[in-house]
Amino acid sequence: MSQDPSCIFCKIVEGKIPSKKVYEDDEVLAFHDIHPWAPVHFLLIPKQHIVSMAHVDASHAPLLGKLMSLVPQLAQQEGCRPYPEGGFRLVTNTGADGGQEVPHLHFHVIGGPRPWLKG
Ligand code: 5GP
Ligand code: ZN
Repeated sequence: MSQDPSCIFCKIVEGKIPSKKVYEDDEVLAFHDIHPWAPVHFLLIPKQHIVSMAHVDASHAPLLGKLMSLVPQLAQQEGCRPYPEGGFRLVTNTGADGGQEVPHLHFHVIGGPRPWLKG
């Protein structure tokens, strides 16, 4: 599997940096964000080092499909209330203009009873 030794999230995948895990399988890891914006805030990542959504191509479609299909299950598991009263935000910052700080593709899943975030 393609890893970048200088990447924080690759180090989390490899267990070199501890994380509070939400879900793990051979291709995917989900863990709590270290600085949560809301009562529920976890990050869903491919274990493979893909830099950002700008680096995704058709070869990644099965992996991305798997990631997306895990979102509702994990959101509910982590305490997001059911749709439509509950729900969550799914956010992927991409590149400098997109506000991406960690260059390893990740999906923020953010939720919990409002008010917690304006806009
Ligand atoms: P970005 O701005 O790249 O979309 O989001 C990166 C997220 O990773 C931030 O919300 C930040 O709090 C989180 N983060 C950065 N370093 C670590 C870490 O070492 N452990 C965990 N659990 N989260 C981290
Ligand atoms: Zn990485």
